[in-house]
Amino acid sequence: MFSKLNHPSVSYADYRPLLDPKLADDLAAVAKEMGRLRVLHLNSTATGGGVAEILQSMVPLGNSLGIETERIVINPDAPEFFQVTKKIHNMLQGADGELSPDELDIYFSCIQRVAEDMRAKNLTADVWFVHDPQLLPLAKLLPKKQGETWIWICHIDLTTPNASVLDALMPLTEYYDQLIFSQTAYVPDGLADKVPVVIAPPAIDPLTVKNTPMDLTQAQKVVRAMGIDTERPLITQVSRFDLWKDPWGVIDAYRIAKKTVPGLQLALLGLSQATDDPEGAEVYKTVSDHANGDPDIHIYFDPSEMPVSVDEVVNAVQMASEVLIQKSTREGFGLTVTEGMWKGKPVIGGDAGGIRVQINDGVSGFLVSSPEQCAQRLVELLQDQSLRSRIGKAAKESVRERFLLPRLALDYLRTARAHMNGRLPATSGD
Ligand code: UDP
Repeated sequence: MFSKLNHPSVSYADYRPLLDPKLADDLAAVAKEMGRLRVLHLNSTATGGGVAEILQSMVPLGNSLGIETERIVINPDAPEFFQVTKKIHNMLQGADGELSPDELDIYFSCIQRVAEDMRAKNLTADVWFVHDPQLLPLAKLLPKKQGETWIWICHIDLTTPNASVLDALMPLTEYYDQLIFSQTAYVPDGLADKVPVVIAPPAIDPLTVKNTPMDLTQAQKVVRAMGIDTERPLITQVSRFDLWKDPWGVIDAYRIAKKTVPGLQLALLGLSQATDDPEGAEVYKTVSDHANGDPDIHIYFDPSEMPVSVDEVVNAVQMASEVLIQKSTREGFGLTVTEGMWKGKPVIGGDAGGIRVQINDGVSGFLVSSPEQCAQRLVELLQDQSLRSRIGKAAKESVRERFLLPRLALDYLRTARAHMNGRLPATSGD
């Protein structure tokens, strides 16, 4: 019902040159204090989506800092489980509807069986980081052992949630010692009165194959193999095929911009990997219909058709694009926005949720609220190389300062440490 994942190891020394020196020292110091504790991260899927992305780097980073860090993903035995949790996810982000008694039963009984399996196999840790709503009931179902700290991390945008699902789920947070949200605005009213909340925006790992900027010649070779003409301008949205990512709006914006930039090409890269996202194929189909056979709209859904690994494809497409788009209408935090900015690219983001924190409008990218606005920014950027370069440089610098993984690791560890005063040496200086 659950599996332990092994991730290739990394060396903290490789991060240091990329970091602000104070942050690098602070993280090493906190990790040293916590070194004897065991940390467990739990989430619902091994690959696909932002949380999986963060954890596959966070776990080796923790170990490289000397903290024994492990990761568990669940393998629910009910085939409908991920349909229900996807519905929960959508409703927490504002979708209409209600969960039926059957759906609630699938959700709770499935997690109950996962919890029983964890108990039977005597899964233990000092600090439990439970990520996102899929696993939220765990703290209630696996009562806390002496000395354990349980932290629930919510990565999604709860600004305008569907009240029925929020009311059903939020009482489960009270079984945790601590909650972490990506932004203050996402914390539901009254929640922080019951359980302490800290804010920790997500981050990207600068050392991965995906985020180490690829040489342009190599990037162009990859995108040519994907059928893209590297002699003409390319704009791209890298995103799962999902309602909230507004791929239809991206196509509309491209169509408007193309009237001014005739050779323009659009890539929509949503290589399906997330086992917890059964909706992707349906959205992909409607997006393909919307593209209506335009040979300059390149839509990618099947990872097996790619010339290189998914991470290399993402890197190559981001590097080979003049402008990147992330036109989400809801977004807790768009990792793809930060990934693009770290590569020194101008990113046009939807004026929503975490993207507002990631992009300083007009300085490190642009925020837009409609296909028309998106098209206008596309044309400005596509026609002005120096604007692209200025925005791209500011984008990269802002990621270096605020959104690299070691900053997030520091936020997590400091949060955990605050619950362990009795069991750690006295600390000073931060
Ligand atoms: N991603 C990918 N291949 C794709 C599309 C997306 O590897 O074809 C990755 C993307 O690079 C990013 C993550 O999936 O690291 C998506 O995270 P984000 O926060 O942008 O969105 P989420 O899917 O979590 O809503």
